[in-house]
Amino acid sequence: MFCDLHMHSTASDGTDAPEALGKLAKAAGLSAIALTDHDTTAGVAAAAKGCKRAGVAFVPGIEVSADPAMVKPPKANPDEPTSGTLHILGLFIRPDDDRLAAISRQMEQARNQRNPMIVDKLNSLGVRIDYAEVEALAAAEGTAIIGRPHIAQVLLAKGYVKSIQDAFTRYIGAKGAAYVRRDRLHPHDAIDAIHHAGGLAVMAHPVQIKYADEDELTYIVRRMIDFGLDAIEARHSDHTAAQALQFEKLAEREKLMVSGGSDYHGTRKTVALGGQNVPIQVYERLRDAAEGVIA
Ligand code: AMP
Ligand code: ZN
Ligand code: FE
Ligand code: FE
Repeated sequence: MFCDLHMHSTASDGTDAPEALGKLAKAAGLSAIALTDHDTTAGVAAAAKGCKRAGVAFVPGIEVSADPAMVKPPKANPDEPTSGTLHILGLFIRPDDDRLAAISRQMEQARNQRNPMIVDKLNSLGVRIDYAEVEALAAAEGTAIIGRPHIAQVLLAKGYVKSIQDAFTRYIGAKGAAYVRRDRLHPHDAIDAIHHAGGLAVMAHPVQIKYADEDELTYIVRRMIDFGLDAIEARHSDHTAAQALQFEKLAEREKLMVSGGSDYHGTRKTVALGGQNVPIQVYERLRDAAEGVIA
């Protein structure tokens, strides 16, 4: 039996409606799934309903972006921007928690500030898209959380790029010509809000934070533990089998639980729902911890 504890719906930048995920999960042979949309829990109720109908256990979740500079070793040149991405999953959260709602609002504002700046940069590069087109796409899908994948979709529809991936490589990814950083949370605040909502804080896809070696990774994870981290995501679509094993060993050494998931985004990413074959015991262990059965 398997679970998948990381996926997105049309409530953020996935392409499947949250209510459709239960049936899809069942078809993929999954017994439990978590919905972890970026900065919002708007899809949680519908996903829970779909899972109930399909006979799949459901975990209410969220994914928030935090500032990697707060956990990485100090740089020789402090003016240099910190590379890498730090995403934190909240699993088993109460979706209506007020602290979580406050950080969601804050992040939505940060997105609404950054996204038009990306479009301005694209325009100055001769790529003629209008921010209203991006907003219309997101509105048609029913989300207030507009992300770069929505911008990528408009670029694709207008023939400026060959694929979503191409849009990130050429324009809007961290090394792209139209990249704009957005404000991110302090990881301590993100983890606190997740705990306030009764959830467990999981360091998502650790490979994305970009570390020089195992020592640096351990340093980063220990900083996260200082801020209250509960688990790390070992199996993930961006990890090799060797990395997943490395993260499992690290979790054991640092007395963290493990999580795992595909980061399914529907047609906006080439990963399959349930593709990580995460054993159901991973879900059960986290559920018991969230319920306070074990510390
Ligand atoms: P945003 O939240 O607006 O900063 O956009 C980040 C989202 O874009 C991530 O959660 C992924 O879903 C997606 N993304 C980031 N990098 C890439 C990439 N290189 N290719 C495809 N999707 C990406
Ligand atoms: Zn995403
Ligand atoms: Fe992520
Ligand atoms: Fe994700």
